[in-house]
Amino acid sequence: MNSKFSEFVFSAHDGFNEPAMREAFSHAVPIKTIVIYCLDPRVTEIPAAVARFLGDETYPGEVLTDESGSRIGSTTTLATVAVAAGRAVDAVRSVSVLQHLFGIETIVVVHHSNCGATSYSAEGMVEAFRHEHGADISHAYDHESMCITDFEDSLSYDVTLLRKSPGVPQSASILGLFYNTDTGELTEVVRDEGTYGGK
Ligand SMILES: [Zn+2]
Repeated sequence: MNSKFSEFVFSAHDGFNEPAMREAFSHAVPIKTIVIYCLDPRVTEIPAAVARFLGDETYPGEVLTDESGSRIGSTTTLATVAVAAGRAVDAVRSVSVLQHLFGIETIVVVHHSNCGATSYSAEGMVEAFRHEHGADISHAYDHESMCITDFEDSLSYDVTLLRKSPGVPQSASILGLFYNTDTGELTEVVRDEGTYGGK
């Protein structure tokens, strides 16, 4: 039963109480916003820019420790999910997990100018994998999410994808923002207010 690292697994502790643990997590980190953005190293400032855009003065916040120095929480209100092109398809599971543990009010999808994903087509990627790896990925991913050919289309698609996902709370507001890689400017393209009316 006890494996090498089980002391680091909350659910492996004696007396583990799942509802109590979830309640404790909800207080450990006041996360209310998720930012989904591209892993491109040129745009690492996106979460900070979104925090300013939303008027969130806490970001990046501080790690909280107890008397023994254990890291037990953080003051941050904004979590980040960095995936290729910032496409929502890769972030849905993370949204569900963060909703379960912390409760999410706002989800922000950011796509950025001159993204690598605007440099190829879905068909070109499928063909390349066929020739270079002998692999058929034509049905591995939905083609709309594989690249970006138009930013209004990609942001609308991703906001809709999130809104239709059963793992995304209907109460959450979902924003689609365009980020200028060179100037750092954010432009709101899509806004889908949640059932609570957003914020
Ligand atoms: Zn990118």
